[in-house]
Amino acid sequence: MSTFKARGLIIKETKVNDTDKCLKIFFKDYGKMDVWARNCRSSKSKIFSGTNLFTYADFIIYKSSKSLSINQVEVISNFYNLSKDLDSLAYATYFLELVEKNILEGISLNDMLLLLLKNLNILSKDLQISKELIRVIFELKFLQIDGYRPIINCCYNCSKPLDDIKTTYFGTQGVLCQDCKKLSHQTIQIDKNILYVINHILSSDINNLFDFNVSNKFLTILIALNKLMLMNHFNTNINSKYFLEDISRKEFLI
Ligand SMILES: [Zn+2]
Repeated sequence: MSTFKARGLIIKETKVNDTDKCLKIFFKDYGKMDVWARNCRSSKSKIFSGTNLFTYADFIIYKSSKSLSINQVEVISNFYNLSKDLDSLAYATYFLELVEKNILEGISLNDMLLLLLKNLNILSKDLQISKELIRVIFELKFLQIDGYRPIINCCYNCSKPLDDIKTTYFGTQGVLCQDCKKLSHQTIQIDKNILYVINHILSSDINNLFDFNVSNKFLTILIALNKLMLMNHFNTNINSKYFLEDISRKEFLI
């Protein structure tokens, strides 16, 4: 039995009985772990304010032979502004759920944690950037970090260079030429210019990514391409996704 200090983000909370919560915390250096927050739901509890979803904090964790539980919390950020805007909250919840359902327990994934924190931070500020574009950036970087960076400079099956491809398609792993399009169970015909946007997102540092915009037409296609790739590689049975699709329709109607 011992204690250790770790920095992390609460990505899922489950209320247990009247007093406790079981949390999934995405820790720096340690990855995702289940941690108990005992007696945290009383306002008198010293960990009351540090055991909610979206809390990013330094935790003192007590480790017994059977489980981990929180002893102390020092909150760094709780992304409070997310709760002021229902749309931002929906996107933020979707990001947490996509990560929570698709990363393995106990594996350090600091780049993914950084991606999540950066996107929550952007959503919690009232910036002049479409939330659908924030989503596109998040999903593409998520695919890249998890080893599914799409191939966009040639056909991913026959390696025909992009310049030699007359009609360009996109499949589950990136660009496909007309001859190879039948290999993917689903393909989307694309304008080659959209690949410049994808390349910009994939080749830029996450800290330098939120200063550009794209047309709604491109945004709609980018969302469809991401959906195609995500469905092929990940568990996308995500509750918050349906709410997001309603918002997305609303955003494009404006
Ligand atoms: Zn080909």
